[in-house]
Amino acid sequence: MDPERFRSVVGERFDEIELGMETGRRLFQGRSIWHINSTARGGGVAELLQSLLAYVRGVGLDARWGVIQGEPEFFEVTKRIHNMLHGVPGDGAGLGEAEREIYERTLAPAADALAQIVTGRDIVFLHDPQTAGMIEALLPTGAVIVWRCHVGLDHANSLARQAWDFLRPYIERADAYVFSRPDFIWEGIDRERAFIVAPSIDVFSAKNQELGPEVVETIVGRIGLGAVDPGDDGEFLRHDGSTGRVVRHAEIYQDVPLPDDAAVVTQVSRWDRLKDPIGVLRGFVDQLDGGNPHLVLAGPATSAVADDPEGAGVLKELLDVRNRLSAEQRARIHVACLPMDDVEENAAMVNAIQRRSQIVVQKSLAEGFGLTVGEAMWKGKPVVASARGGIQDQITDGVSGILLSDPSDLAEYGASVRRLLDDEPLRIRMGIAARREVEANFLGSRHLLDYLQMLRALLERRGPS
Ligand code: UDP
Repeated sequence: MDPERFRSVVGERFDEIELGMETGRRLFQGRSIWHINSTARGGGVAELLQSLLAYVRGVGLDARWGVIQGEPEFFEVTKRIHNMLHGVPGDGAGLGEAEREIYERTLAPAADALAQIVTGRDIVFLHDPQTAGMIEALLPTGAVIVWRCHVGLDHANSLARQAWDFLRPYIERADAYVFSRPDFIWEGIDRERAFIVAPSIDVFSAKNQELGPEVVETIVGRIGLGAVDPGDDGEFLRHDGSTGRVVRHAEIYQDVPLPDDAAVVTQVSRWDRLKDPIGVLRGFVDQLDGGNPHLVLAGPATSAVADDPEGAGVLKELLDVRNRLSAEQRARIHVACLPMDDVEENAAMVNAIQRRSQIVVQKSLAEGFGLTVGEAMWKGKPVVASARGGIQDQITDGVSGILLSDPSDLAEYGASVRRLLDDEPLRIRMGIAARREVEANFLGSRHLLDYLQMLRALLERRGPS
């Protein structure tokens, strides 16, 4: 994708991007930039890579993306590490020698295969705990190795320290570490090698591009949430410039379709306990019984996200809770599992649902960055979200959204949503401020310039090659 398109959004600031592109071309000539993670779709990392790599390639550079594979037992271990890095036990089974054995056994062949094709001029980004164990095997290639950790917590606890201790031997020799915010830098890590790069959203993607109200209605109807399937396809623009169509239905759990005139509150997330979908539902039915707002909980079809073994269980718990509600309460709760067969079609579905919403919620108990927050803010939506992780860097409380100081406090959450439901001028004001915040700080162009600056520093440290 041609970064030239940022000109229309950033105006004069495009000069800086142009300069960055020039520097990038000079610096990375003859080098490949590799990104390795553990899923091609679903979740924030896949979302980021899809766009960022396309822009880097658009500048004329050689950026590549590899996805490791593993058996379910590997992803059980890495999901446990992920949870512990967020400060919670996950399945609680701990991290010992057996886990180390599964972890190393899975990563060894992937690391060896990668080491065969990486050269000493290359740069390799390994994303998250799933790939940290590949660093050692890549060192002999001479490539610059960056470990990018997307998860973290604001105040370390003993579970996080256990996960750090498990991962520390693997990451110690990386050339650099990248965290999303300063609070996420581990205790005891070499700060000289630690960099802060906040994520970004791709405002031109199917997820965030402008969709007119009719297209929104068509897509919401087509996937099965809205009252009428228009029989028409909702159209969107694909990365490659062709027209995409939303043709698939989602798996929807609802008693009645979303009424056309209903105020809609939405959370979009993977089915993950840390996103607390059950808390979002409970707070909604307990605190918001006046008026007629509807709640949409949307997430990916659970079979689709390769590195997340807990999704199906969390969805089932949520549906069980929903089933036990009174008929009247249940009628206002809609759960949508969005097909991931076509990632851009899925993105257009998320886009339409967020745009259909009056308020977007992200009531995570812990959060790395929370791309869904920026996505909704870009669409001018007031967001009620937890004061956790990177959400705090995106929302200025009371100005561009509402931060929940204690995400487990359902009364605070309910009252914040109620306040916005009752006050349309406030929603509009916050929505405008929200979009400005994204424009100023969370565009892909800023993200790329941050990486450029970091890599320039790393290559300078290395000296001429
Ligand atoms: N997402 C999606 N389809 C879904 C559910 C989520 O594309 O059905 C996207 C969502 O729009 C966001 C990403 O997955 O871009 C989630 O990133 P976030 O940082 O919010 O959370 P993570 O999943 O990385 O914890």
